[in-house]
Amino acid sequence: MPIDPRQPYDDANIFARILRGEIPCNKVYEDDFALAFHDIAPQAPVHVLVIPKGPYVSWDDFSAHAPADLIAGYVRAVGHVARELGLVDPGYRLLANIGVDGGQEVPHLHIHLFGGAPLGRMIS
Ligand code: IMP
Repeated sequence: MPIDPRQPYDDANIFARILRGEIPCNKVYEDDFALAFHDIAPQAPVHVLVIPKGPYVSWDDFSAHAPADLIAGYVRAVGHVARELGLVDPGYRLLANIGVDGGQEVPHLHIHLFGGAPLGRMIS
């Protein structure tokens, strides 16, 4: 069920619980700004989610309200994960679903990182 993008941050959402270590994840990378883990229902040979370490519902919330050091650290972490997974050549895809029309289901910002096979063009 897509989320309401204007909702306040819900501390009980599943990614908040993963960040607190209350439920496990298949971790790929972690630093002071971000945590990356394999998606539980992968839609590509590589499907990793990268989440910021902060209470942000969506990209909209994060880009408007997160401090600059967290934004920079998070963006760098996404690129680092792609490089560490060997995806830069031949390439990969980043995606963030936002709100109802975007089909976002988990109300903690996450960037999907897809790779490991030709993904086709989404926009032509
Ligand atoms: P959204 O539709 O962009 O919000 O994507 C949510 C993603 O989270 C989906 O691809 C789910 O498969 C994934 N997901 C949900 N719960 C878990 C979990 O516990 N571990 C890893 N991925 C999850």
